[in-house]
Amino acid sequence: ISADDFEYLVSKIRTIPDFPAKGILFRDFMPVFADAKAFSILMHAMEAALPVPVDQIDVVAGLEARGFLFGPALAAHLGKGFVAVRKAGKLPPPTKKESYSLEYGEAAIEVESNIITEGQRVLIVDDLIATGGSARAARNLLQACGATIAGFSFVMELDGLDGIERLGDYPTSSLLRMP
Ligand code: AMP
Repeated sequence: ISADDFEYLVSKIRTIPDFPAKGILFRDFMPVFADAKAFSILMHAMEAALPVPVDQIDVVAGLEARGFLFGPALAAHLGKGFVAVRKAGKLPPPTKKESYSLEYGEAAIEVESNIITEGQRVLIVDDLIATGGSARAARNLLQACGATIAGFSFVMELDGLDGIERLGDYPTSSLLRMP
């Protein structure tokens, strides 16, 4: 994509200080999805930045909630299916579950047990990687379902948290690196 397109895309990401809590610089991607041109640029940029060739991906998996906004769009753009990694308690049984710790407390995510076939190569996507805790939990969960992790794609990585380094040795891409 061109430098102008990239600049246009970045101009649609809104930054809100002290939301949802003091000291957090919240990155809001909703204006990107609301804008036809920015959304299209995002799809093309994600495709161009794929961490592995498209024919090495069988299915795209997105993390609730914002991975549900562009994950299915990216999957359709690439001609792939989409798997939803949901917060625990939302999907009907049978499910597989993975718990992980947050800064304060615990969280758990689930996928439907038979949604992945053994050896399917999964690209995990989310809007933003901070500590990498959510993406690591998704990786563990999908592996427990028999998936092979093809790689990770993020729109943005937060500087200084080593989220990508902490994912392990997988092909990974992010379009932007910001504080
Ligand atoms: P982490 O598990 O620490 O990598 O956090 C990533 C998850 O939290 C992603 O689903 C993000 O959407 C969300 N998140 C973390 N930090 C921010 C931030 N500064 N702005 C927007 N979303 C964030």
